[in-house]
Amino acid sequence: MSDVVGVIGAGQLARMLTPVAINLGIELRVFAENAGASASLATTVVGDYTDAQQVLDFARGVDVVTFDHEHVPQSVLTLLEAEGIAVRPGSAALRFAQDKLEMRARVAELGLPQPQWVAAADAAAVETFLAAHDGRAVAKTPRGGYDGHGVRVITSAADVADWLTDEALAHVGGALLIEEAIEFRRELSQQVARRPSGEIAAWPLVASEQVDGVCAEVVAPAPDTADAVRDEALHIGVTLAERLDVTGALAVELFETTDGRVLINELAMRPHNSGHWSQDGAVTSQFEQHLRAVLDLPLGSTQPRDAVTVMVNVLGGTPESAHGQALREALAAHPEAKVHWYGKSYRPGRKVGHVNVSGAHPDEVRDAARETAALLGSEVVDRLAR
Ligand code: ADP
Repeated sequence: MSDVVGVIGAGQLARMLTPVAINLGIELRVFAENAGASASLATTVVGDYTDAQQVLDFARGVDVVTFDHEHVPQSVLTLLEAEGIAVRPGSAALRFAQDKLEMRARVAELGLPQPQWVAAADAAAVETFLAAHDGRAVAKTPRGGYDGHGVRVITSAADVADWLTDEALAHVGGALLIEEAIEFRRELSQQVARRPSGEIAAWPLVASEQVDGVCAEVVAPAPDTADAVRDEALHIGVTLAERLDVTGALAVELFETTDGRVLINELAMRPHNSGHWSQDGAVTSQFEQHLRAVLDLPLGSTQPRDAVTVMVNVLGGTPESAHGQALREALAAHPEAKVHWYGKSYRPGRKVGHVNVSGAHPDEVRDAARETAALLGSEVVDRLAR
């Protein structure tokens, strides 16, 4: 009998688990919010992930429950665990990916490096922090943010007046996270995977570039990286996986500061955009590794297959981009490119797919990946740094 993995959420991450599940003979079942979701290539149950009974009914038919997103409420997760269902990552780990204030407090306890921060429930607390930080800070809603929604650079409490109303605060956990605005050289991501029995495997550190708060490009491994930066990132990734008892894939988004420090930005406990390069650029992709890890199977090699892999997201485009002339042109122009399409409808700026290119020459690889994404209609390629 094959192992059955139940995935809550049916976005592109669940979708990209399907080919590796097929390869390993694992049965995948997806709990989707609606029938048209990206992953509805696997057996799909449609339901509400905040409804404990519906999630429980789904979970009883699988060997292990895992996630495409981190929005399943703690009350639902702990109920599943109380019923003896294997939830990976577990509720006690996942809360640090669900709530940025809880994450900041735990990272502080662990003594790991991060921006200075405070929990602010009113304008006075925001102003006090600003006064101590040259009048500039980054405000975040602790819960429910993604792709830069829920992140603002602020110079006054008035910039977050709408987030400080009682009603708005009640939705995000009662306070805002206010952080020091970091002068970063670049953003990095350290990905690891951990099995319940303890084995950990780490991919090489990668560099990511965001446009308007959304990941646009990833270079693997991160070029021109000091040994100390690489070692620190790996230490952070492994420490968090172990101390937070993460099972499955963990991505730690990091800042490399202009003075060479490595600071933790945020955590994702699932396959992550910064790891899409591994589908074509590493011996074991993050999707395969996540399935292995949540099933407590031996982990695969994280060795890169080539000197460099560049992943470029397709953000926006037109409804015709994927399966019309644009796809033909992109495939013809760049036979070395691997195109991954999410089967989503078009919306300006929306992540609808990505492109991976691997090779020996960083500039050629990057140009090929960017050109392919541009031919597929990506709207932000022109805004990436040279
Ligand atoms: P999300 O959960 O929406 O991905 P993040 O916390 O990762 O939000 O923030 C999105 C982006 O905003 C980051 O990738 C980074 O470019 C920028 N950012 C976030 N926090 C800071 C900070 N403290 N200083 C400077 N830039 C930041």
